[in-house]
Amino acid sequence: MKKYQICTQCVMDTSDSKITFDSRGVCDHCRNYEKNIKPYWKPQENRFDELEELAKKIRKAGKGHDYDCILGLSGGADSSYMAYIAKEVMHLRPLVLVVDTGWNLNVAVENIEKIVKGLDLDMYTEVVNWKEMADLQLSYFKASISSCDQPQDHAIFAGLYNYAVKHHIKYVLTGSNNSTEFVRPPVGILYMNDLTMMKDIHRKYGRVPLRTFPMCGMVKYRVAYRYINGMRRVYPLDYVVYDKEKAQQFLHEKYGWTKYENKHYENVFTRFFEGYYLPHKFGYDTRRNVLSNQILAGTITREEALEILEQPPYDPDQMAQDKEYVAKKMGITEKEFDKIIAKPNKHPEDYKNEMWMIRAGVAVSKLLGMEKRNLRV
Ligand SMILES: [Zn+2]
Repeated sequence: MKKYQICTQCVMDTSDSKITFDSRGVCDHCRNYEKNIKPYWKPQENRFDELEELAKKIRKAGKGHDYDCILGLSGGADSSYMAYIAKEVMHLRPLVLVVDTGWNLNVAVENIEKIVKGLDLDMYTEVVNWKEMADLQLSYFKASISSCDQPQDHAIFAGLYNYAVKHHIKYVLTGSNNSTEFVRPPVGILYMNDLTMMKDIHRKYGRVPLRTFPMCGMVKYRVAYRYINGMRRVYPLDYVVYDKEKAQQFLHEKYGWTKYENKHYENVFTRFFEGYYLPHKFGYDTRRNVLSNQILAGTITREEALEILEQPPYDPDQMAQDKEYVAKKMGITEKEFDKIIAKPNKHPEDYKNEMWMIRAGVAVSKLLGMEKRNLRV
């Protein structure tokens, strides 16, 4: 067992199994940020000229079409604020795509409605077949890995990109951004598009054939969509000062948007997964990376973050209710679910996977100077 250590600059600690510290006690996330992100990123500065250049390109590509871009709206702060920027600042004509995975909380659905109505946007909802979604979700829990959020994340991702390409929409706007998402959780993220792993896990534990579940593998996304269909992914929030608290306040005042308890808690599954499953089974609290981002972005102090971490991720009574709800929704009893959760932890690499491809892709991107971050793969 490694000795407990917490970074002296952010709040990442040894619950991130791959973390390393230098002689000053500063973690690799912070060093990576200082060296590879900070010099290229100006969080305190609006870059409206560059944003307008980008907007011009997008508007031009959309001439003669119903929409010039597409954006995925979850109802959370990032995507809601991005929708505002797209419409009111960039003067784009986005189509809003909502992927309904069956787990959304009312607050998210209401937020989506308020933003869409307030900004007068068109919306399309892609409803994922629930039987397939539930079966795949249960398979991931049975697989005992930490990246149990993959089925839902993949459905949202694939639903958006497949729709864009099918309808010849070239630009995809994403609410991902450096100010809230630079420090990544140690688990999961890299496996989101790993269809080899998804199929292997489903073959071992699944029962319902996946006939309509949205899928978009790495080659399709990285190569075909990009170089054949000419699809571009843009990050508008990286061009503006994005202070999450202020953005939330603004959205509330202007559109009646409601704040969630925590980032990504727009959804029962995510709340349960991040607030209970990951900390309980894998000892990792995703608030650590969220708060560390805020510290590096200068929107919160380290002391404030440490104070927040003293509290449980969310109300323990709600956790118990969520566990029961998630089990029931997946068609099993809570007892059966407890048994599944209690099984020994496994690593994604215990299943067939495409990590070699991710590693090769990252190596090539680094060589070409397209990827500046140090990705731990
Ligand atoms: Zn750090």
